[in-house]
Amino acid sequence: MLALREAGVTVLDMAPVIDSAPIGPSLRRYANGAALVRSTLEPVAMLGLLQEIEAAFGRKRARRWGSRVLDLDIVLWEGGRWLSGGASRKALHVPHPAYRERGFVLAPTMAIAAGWRDPLTGFTPRHLHSRLTARARIPRDAIAT
Ligand code: AMP
Repeated sequence: MLALREAGVTVLDMAPVIDSAPIGPSLRRYANGAALVRSTLEPVAMLGLLQEIEAAFGRKRARRWGSRVLDLDIVLWEGGRWLSGGASRKALHVPHPAYRERGFVLAPTMAIAAGWRDPLTGFTPRHLHSRLTARARIPRDAIAT
């Protein structure tokens, strides 16, 4: 948060940090948080700033799911949907393409942006989180195919 503030970004709110298991082969557990920020930067410039902060914290982009010191993503922004960079590896999609399936992103997001609506589905982070956890509770053999 200090790094964001030092870069001129206004931090409006911060979610409590939660702990989660890694996705993929990483051996460490992760601390997950979310911040609601105000900035004049558009998403591409904001992503550039986030990547500079990651680099300053020693993150190396060698392996996709490798252990990482810090991973900063843009989950939502108030401008609705943003797509740039086409199919390249550097493409930027806002909302973040995977956030609807990640409880460790939805839980902190709903703590600070409860009323925000996903521009694709119209659901709030709380809605998306309830749907995700309800799905996880349904036993496989109870689902008609
Ligand atoms: P990661 O390894 O998870 O940090 O992935 C970073 C890459 O994902 C970036 O270089 C972006 O090109 C891409 N990306 C696509 N959408 C987003 C997003 N909403 N926030 C951050 N990275 C994104």
